[in-house]
Amino acid sequence: MAGASGATGHVMIERGEGAAVKYEVVAEAYRDLERVSGRLALIERLAQLLAATPDGLLATVCYLCQGLIAPEFAGVDLGLAEKLAVRALATAAGTGAEDAAASVREAGDLGQAGEQLLAAAAADRPASLPVAVVVDTLHQIAAAAGQGSQGRKLGLLAGLLGQATPLEARYLLRLVTGNLRLGIGTPTILDSLAQVHAGGRADRPVLERAYNICCDLGKVAAALAAGGLAAVEELRVQPGNPVRAMLAQRLSEPAEILAKLGGRCAAEYKYDGVRVQAHKTADGQIELYTRRLERVSSQFPDVVEALAAGLGPAEAILEGEVVAYDAAAGELHPFGEVMFRRRKHGISEAMADVPVGLFCFELLYADGADLTRLPYPRRRAALAAAVTVSPQLRLTTATEAGTPAALETAFEQAVTDGCEGLVCKSVGPAAVYQAGARGWLWIKLKRDYRTELSDTADLVVVGAFAGRGRRRGVYGALLLAAYDPAADVFRTVTKCGTGFSDAELAALPARLAPLARAVRPARVDARQQPDVWFEPGLVLEILSAELTLSPTYTAAWGQLKDDAGLAMRFPRFTGRYRDDKAPEDATTTGELAGLYRTAQRKPAGS
Ligand code: AMP
Repeated sequence: MAGASGATGHVMIERGEGAAVKYEVVAEAYRDLERVSGRLALIERLAQLLAATPDGLLATVCYLCQGLIAPEFAGVDLGLAEKLAVRALATAAGTGAEDAAASVREAGDLGQAGEQLLAAAAADRPASLPVAVVVDTLHQIAAAAGQGSQGRKLGLLAGLLGQATPLEARYLLRLVTGNLRLGIGTPTILDSLAQVHAGGRADRPVLERAYNICCDLGKVAAALAAGGLAAVEELRVQPGNPVRAMLAQRLSEPAEILAKLGGRCAAEYKYDGVRVQAHKTADGQIELYTRRLERVSSQFPDVVEALAAGLGPAEAILEGEVVAYDAAAGELHPFGEVMFRRRKHGISEAMADVPVGLFCFELLYADGADLTRLPYPRRRAALAAAVTVSPQLRLTTATEAGTPAALETAFEQAVTDGCEGLVCKSVGPAAVYQAGARGWLWIKLKRDYRTELSDTADLVVVGAFAGRGRRRGVYGALLLAAYDPAADVFRTVTKCGTGFSDAELAALPARLAPLARAVRPARVDARQQPDVWFEPGLVLEILSAELTLSPTYTAAWGQLKDDAGLAMRFPRFTGRYRDDKAPEDATTTGELAGLYRTAQRKPAGS
């Protein structure tokens, strides 16, 4: 049975059948939590509520404290339109919808208006709604879909409000419209749980780890209530429950990074896209979650398909970065494109406009084995064994580095290849997957090495790479060079496959055929081997986002840095063939070096 509580929040409730606990008890806790100031007071008041909650209802009450009725990742969307909630309120309070709307406007808050209207209509109504009934009805409201669902939602909510006390109505209305905003963080709830069901707040780290590997407060609470801390320690990573992402620290000097990581590390390319965690469950389903626990499989059906084809284990949790990626040209595209893809509605159109690839970097679980406690090299080996790579499904490029110079080179190569920099990862025996932590086992290197270039350059075609997949039979990308007048040599600066229409792509081989050569023409200086070389002849106008230093390209080699040339990132053909220019009229390597130096001197963001 549930008893009344005073403003101090004294709750009288007996442990017993969960079904008997009144929602009023939760509403009173909400009210007190809104009033208290200071984290300790929050923990105390929450602990009171949790202590009064029967074990069978603990998970539900924990969700309610988060302003939820299910774990966040379940995506149960209450989010009722305020208009609909106002109509339900009007029905329950026996007023017209117009009057109810006016009360909301006046109070400036739906919850408060609801409380006032019910205080007028049903001041003496005793608390009768059990928590279990409220939550069950809220689930029905969330689940109602399709034809007539608005009417059903309205009916269900009006039914609840018709039995609610004024205080209950205040919080029910806020909860269903997604406006509960209690301001209690998960760590605070974990503190309260530790205080009530474990040895005190010192035990929070055990609960925290469990939460970090399942993102389900209810699951942690239920395990704790049923089997104490030992049962919580037993919780394991499980497909279907997202794991909170491991994050990276940041340093700008390779030497510092190596010192932190014990002199050696794995240098992985840092791709610029959207991190996803893929869960493959025993039923064969694959679900993708973002770092913020949103389900995004419907936005990336092509990624799901690639995983269905290439992910070996029957059950797995894998992490990677979804990047706008043209597999045919082997080109990475900027972050903005993948975000554009996420915003688009017509998914098949979006898939064609912005092809993506998944660059995998972690395997947390495979066929019954929780890999999070294994050191990184073993996880990486398991990842490589679990994934059959394909054009859309790749592993992140990774090399081992033991000197600052090697790290520097890897960084430049990563940037040249269209990445943001590196994530340097500890390869030591203690390099576990730290769920939810920004620790020193991963360190990102994203130096402001890059400079912006908003101008176009006229570059000379000196080679081409054969297209694959969709671009089979045409060129996937062209190798482009700037002119070095002092040496009368064309030095490479980028590879570009973007900005060409299908018709232009189809016409290029014939257009370039007279210039094609089997071996590198004498005036071309390059460190790559394209599939076909061209005598410098055709000039294209290219727009690029920025210039970077690179060990792959030869423009201005050694002028800005030993053993590095200049590269253009994210080059795009503007559509203009500069037939009016001879190759010797192309942009010079000296001009590019000047642009790079100028951009370097500009303060960031200018
Ligand atoms: P930041 O968001 O700048 O803190 O960088 C960390 C993010 O980089 C991660 O959350 C991933 O989304 C992304 N990332 C890209 N490539 C990798 C990689 N190889 N390993 C880990 N994270 C990566």
